[in-house]
Amino acid sequence: MSKGAFNPFAMAQAQFDKVADFLELDAGTRDFLRNPVREYQFNIPVHMDDGTVKVFRGFRVQHNDARGPCKGGIRFHPQETIDTVRALSMWMTWKCAVVDIPLGGGKGGVICDPHNLSMAEQQQICRGWVRQLAKNVGPVQDVPAPDVMTSAQHMLWMLDEYETIHGGKYPGLITGKPVGMGGSLGRTEATGYGVIYTVREALKQLGIKPEDTTASVQGFGNVAQYAIRLYEELGGKVICVSCWDQEDQTSYSFKKESGVDLDALLKITDRFGGINKDKAREMGCEVLPGEAWIEQDVDILIPAALENQISGENVQSINRRVKLIAEGANGPTTPEADKVLEERGVFVIPDFLANAGGVTCSYFEQVQCNMNYYWEKNEVLDKLDTKMTSAFLAVSELARKRKIFMRDAAYVISVSRVAQACKDRGWV
Ligand code: GLU
Repeated sequence: MSKGAFNPFAMAQAQFDKVADFLELDAGTRDFLRNPVREYQFNIPVHMDDGTVKVFRGFRVQHNDARGPCKGGIRFHPQETIDTVRALSMWMTWKCAVVDIPLGGGKGGVICDPHNLSMAEQQQICRGWVRQLAKNVGPVQDVPAPDVMTSAQHMLWMLDEYETIHGGKYPGLITGKPVGMGGSLGRTEATGYGVIYTVREALKQLGIKPEDTTASVQGFGNVAQYAIRLYEELGGKVICVSCWDQEDQTSYSFKKESGVDLDALLKITDRFGGINKDKAREMGCEVLPGEAWIEQDVDILIPAALENQISGENVQSINRRVKLIAEGANGPTTPEADKVLEERGVFVIPDFLANAGGVTCSYFEQVQCNMNYYWEKNEVLDKLDTKMTSAFLAVSELARKRKIFMRDAAYVISVSRVAQACKDRGWV
């Protein structure tokens, strides 16, 4: 799902190599951690509504399970690749480690475009994915979750298939389940809210009040929507959002200087986060090219779409006023762009810290499933805030003490924890 020659796995490995040098990791540990431990690739045949059979390519990559079962979402996307899934699985390992939850890293995907698939066809993809992996995923092995273009409904179909195959009830197979079917309250909000818990803490450190700030957001899916909601509750103003337009096969930015109206926008948005252009114009939004989100005269940028969005090509178009970038997406910034941001002194909350709220809430979902006792939403969100805040503080303190970039500090904490677990188990 990446533009041109960009390879997200090469990027994930380059980020890892930098920290491995910094930590002076031994050659064996380095070799072990820079590649996934296991990978699965398979075909899923689907009986399409028009009577034909179409075959979809599926993936699951398990990067590391030294600290606990692999954990990570499943993406449905037409440009999914094995290298993207590899990178994402690696980032999941660091993500679980930075918030210190007892889980490893994994990721899955299917090359498909849900925009063009009926629910019946998507259900077959979900069930087919589980059939291929019925022995390789599970509550104590590898626990999937929702991600780009997958939802609680997809998780429930997958769970149902797994339970049918194994002949029992195994709610611990998967997280992001519907509430009332083993899901946790707050899971839907968790990733977006988590981003803003870290933004709130970063603003405190920068000595800026949220109500004095404006932001521009890339993406308008689950992460972006809830990030905007909480940021506005804190008093911030979002003046620009961007999203993919399925009909035109390009993205657009939607700008309103006085602040976008989240609830009004949600009414004209499809389930994939696509905003209706004509209706947006009617409500006073300027419709601009997709790239416009990055050029806005704002204090905060929140890339909350896909990887490779802030690169050497466009990093210079970031307005000098931008003080903070909170990465809601996985891998949105390339190492080339990182250098520029570091030189400029922009405070970057790196992806696997900023967006760890989703998997942290998934972990809470597992805990609740194991107890078969479910917490109130406030209790879930309070625990989430505590976990995200303490992870943020640990990373920012290390960055300050060692005078290193926030991304490097987050990597130092995560990689040390995972390397230590591998060593303690006698693997490396
Ligand atoms: N897909 C989410 C992520 O990238 C959540 C993963 C999970 O809950 O396991 O972090």
